[in-house]
Amino acid sequence: MIMNSVEKILIENIDDPNALFVFPTDIAVSGWADRLLRLRGNTIAMNRFIAWDKFKQKSIKSKVKDKKSIPSALRKIFTSRLIIENSEAVKNGNTPVFSSLITVKWAEHSQQFSPWLTGLLPQLGVWFSRTTGLSIDSILSEDAKKAGAKFEDDDKDTFTLAVRYALFLEKYSFFEPAWETPPFNNDGKNCFIFFPEALSDFCEYRELLSGYVNLISASPQGEFSRSSSGRDDDEIAASHTFFYTNARREITEASLYIRALHEKNNIPWDSIVVSVPDSENYEPYVLREFSNRNIPYAKRTSKPLTDFTAGQFFRSVIDCVSQDFAFSPFIGLVLNKNLKWKDEEKISNLVDFGIKNNCVCSWSELPSNFHAEEEDEENEKNDGSRQTTVLKERHINVWEDAFYSPVSFLDKESRDFFYDLKKHTCALRQADSFLELRRQYFIFRERFLDMDNCSEETDQVFSRCIAELMELTVLEKNYPDVPAPDPFLFFTEYLSEVNYLAQAKTTGVAILPYKTAASAPFDCHIILGAVQNNISVVYSRLNFLPKKKREEIGIIDEDASLAFINLHKYNSRKISAFFCSELTFSGFEIAHSKIGSPLKPKENYTNDPKYCEFFSGDYYLFENDFSASEGFFLHENQKNGFFEWKNRRFSKNYESSKPLSDVTLKYIKDKLSYHNAHDGTGDNKISVSASSLKIYCQCSLKWLLNRIGLENTEVEASLMSQDIYGNVYHAALDLFFTNLKNNEETLLKPVISANTASLPDKYKKLLLRCINIINVSPSPRINDEKNETIKTSALTTRFLQAAQDQFVFNLENCLVNFLSFFSGCSVIGCEKWYQTQKETYFLNGKSDCILRDENGKYIIIDFKLANLPKRKDCTGEGDKGLCDLQLPMYITLAENNENIIIETALFFSIIKQIPEVIIGNVYDEINNINYPKRAQDRVERHDETYKQLIEIFDNKVKQFADEIITGNFSIFETNYNECYNCEYSRICRKVYTIKNEKNITLGKRE
Ligand code: SF4
Repeated sequence: MIMNSVEKILIENIDDPNALFVFPTDIAVSGWADRLLRLRGNTIAMNRFIAWDKFKQKSIKSKVKDKKSIPSALRKIFTSRLIIENSEAVKNGNTPVFSSLITVKWAEHSQQFSPWLTGLLPQLGVWFSRTTGLSIDSILSEDAKKAGAKFEDDDKDTFTLAVRYALFLEKYSFFEPAWETPPFNNDGKNCFIFFPEALSDFCEYRELLSGYVNLISASPQGEFSRSSSGRDDDEIAASHTFFYTNARREITEASLYIRALHEKNNIPWDSIVVSVPDSENYEPYVLREFSNRNIPYAKRTSKPLTDFTAGQFFRSVIDCVSQDFAFSPFIGLVLNKNLKWKDEEKISNLVDFGIKNNCVCSWSELPSNFHAEEEDEENEKNDGSRQTTVLKERHINVWEDAFYSPVSFLDKESRDFFYDLKKHTCALRQADSFLELRRQYFIFRERFLDMDNCSEETDQVFSRCIAELMELTVLEKNYPDVPAPDPFLFFTEYLSEVNYLAQAKTTGVAILPYKTAASAPFDCHIILGAVQNNISVVYSRLNFLPKKKREEIGIIDEDASLAFINLHKYNSRKISAFFCSELTFSGFEIAHSKIGSPLKPKENYTNDPKYCEFFSGDYYLFENDFSASEGFFLHENQKNGFFEWKNRRFSKNYESSKPLSDVTLKYIKDKLSYHNAHDGTGDNKISVSASSLKIYCQCSLKWLLNRIGLENTEVEASLMSQDIYGNVYHAALDLFFTNLKNNEETLLKPVISANTASLPDKYKKLLLRCINIINVSPSPRINDEKNETIKTSALTTRFLQAAQDQFVFNLENCLVNFLSFFSGCSVIGCEKWYQTQKETYFLNGKSDCILRDENGKYIIIDFKLANLPKRKDCTGEGDKGLCDLQLPMYITLAENNENIIIETALFFSIIKQIPEVIIGNVYDEINNINYPKRAQDRVERHDETYKQLIEIFDNKVKQFADEIITGNFSIFETNYNECYNCEYSRICRKVYTIKNEKNITLGKRE
């Protein structure tokens, strides 16, 4: 067996009782110890193997007597307190601690600087000695003080930070490990430091260790300056580089490559390591591909505790309390899928209630009976001067406000649950010490969480969080004069800095972040996403300083990218492979210049005769070609998919040719008949309305799904339902025109003065009266499309009342322009419901406004809030043909019920104040414009086009009624955009293509 340099050194020295093998990481330590065991086949002394960090700690401990290394939490407490001190100084007009690192302007909101300042502390030792030329041990001396006096701006603040930290360390008998320069005492040990290129801080120890240790590098002789010996070229196993056009293909072929290593070269799964530099983007796809292709894996990537779903509980508590239980943070807390709540039903009731009652956010407002001017008068002093009233806002919790005047019912138990949850969440958030926080956490947990039934991961994450909390309580007890400011916030931020590695229960291909496994031996190292951005490694000490400043004090960046590439290659016993692509999940990238990738990316390598032997077959492709594949093989989920399909086909329902169960069929029939039996005659006829026809003409399936009551149940609350504004405008116009109709008045002309047009005073007053009647407190009087009263939530009511001036403004403008078209007309009907009976169906609809002009001709107007229907859809001139049938419907209903002939039919936009005239024409007197503007667009009542429109309308209505009665729906060609925007697209099978089976769309006949 050929051994490499590391193996030779280990074999030759393992029996030497003084030998000490130092590796960069724990993974490398266990990997190389394991390798030696395999080589020797005997027991080995594990205490000869040590990771670099532990090696340093051992020697540091021997120098600093009677002092303890500062715990990282206390470092953070130190900076948090310093930031508070700085902000208090600014608030009180005293000299701040910092003026440059934290500018005075932001000092009062600078808690978020805490992690950054905490990160600077260990580096201040090097910074101080390089900038002053003094040893860090003398930072509190007079010499240091003199040196510090010369500093300005950032340097001055950095010096202050270093001095304050040194005082803190001294007061509590701590030492900062990163500030120590231990004397090296080899105790007669024969030390071997392997792969020093992987140690970011090795340059600080190089001089100290020089002559005492053996350095062994994975880079070639002379290439890496830190080593005293490098490897020979023949120590490197074969290495491949694959450069793809896109990352999806890269991951698929990497999986096929790994399968081939196992299937063709008998490499055990656990002897392969996959390093993923961009784990955030790559990992979900890699895990899915491995699962699909039956590659066992063990994910060994740690992440911050607060990144686990259970760990997000603590952040949710902060958000909930800071936003006073606004809907979004509230559901973030109670719908956290990794928490098991004891009162799930009450939570579900509350969420439902929150959506219906628009519990979007809490707010502050002036008391409703507050009038600033009256208050000012009351405050008038004897001398006649007025004292300005101080406005006292009161805070309103949106839930409590909604409980007081609810739109929908909520049981008392659910309401009590909310109050209880609020009380305990606030108590937890406002705990004034870590000990109290711990007490409140256990009270909360006992009251609300069902820990016996939560997932194992949740249990583990919570246990680890509480273990961290316990450590903080010990610190708090031992150092009572340095309490953390805002314990809960501190604890949550602290958790976000604690990485947790969930215990892997599986074995298989190891998945690790890039660099972590570089110095550990495996049969094969595979690197995914090996692009310039991902695998560049630059050691940049004191990176909080600008590059120029670092260079001035002799700190130079070191590029260790090639060293890590060499490490991954060197530590691959059989083969290594680098995969990368041009188009990744985060954009276009370039392959790293040192991995030797081809210049141009390829679609795939599996079809390339030169490389195909390195990849396993793609069984997903084989399943379509039974005859071409020999020794047919399927992945687990292909087999499961087949059996699922087979079981369904031979299930009871399928055998009896029933695509739906009896229960589902009955439900659909009941829903349809409910919607159709409203003709008032007692006959079970089909109701045909403009809105249902409109949906039906877009897509018959969409109509069916809408009618059977399928709703998109997104857990989201909004300030108000989308069409409520439209309903208010319609209701106000209805009242306005009804008043004119009852008084049998003809419409007045708008008042024109100095190039502006306005409403006659009489109309202004009438309009204001109408709006006041509609938009009243405590609940506006508005009806929906079906003429049913709309109940508005407390929040919606407030918004509508806040928008009162806007309603008046828009309606005045609308009516001014309306009068410019229709002054002289009289009102015949407004917001009037009509029905027209036919043999098997009845037409049903409400017309917004019918006018009669001075010549006795009738005009029908349909108001729209803002956008008007497309003209082409109403005349049938466009690609979709006649698909907007609203006006033909209203004309038919009005003519049949009022016994009149409609000569003009149009839509009118309330906000845009313009018409879209479909039948006939109208004239704008203010602007001297005729609508439609182009003569060729006019469709007159006696035209052939009009007859065709009505004929098409009649046919479509009949077809609609027939299809509902028979249940046989025809296909309207739905265009892709329609499906893309359709709320049912997620459940509609139309968008899926099932291989080898005809694409049959539900509810449609071909
Ligand atoms: S997704 Fe397309 S086919 Fe399906 S219901 Fe919607 S519009 Fe119709």
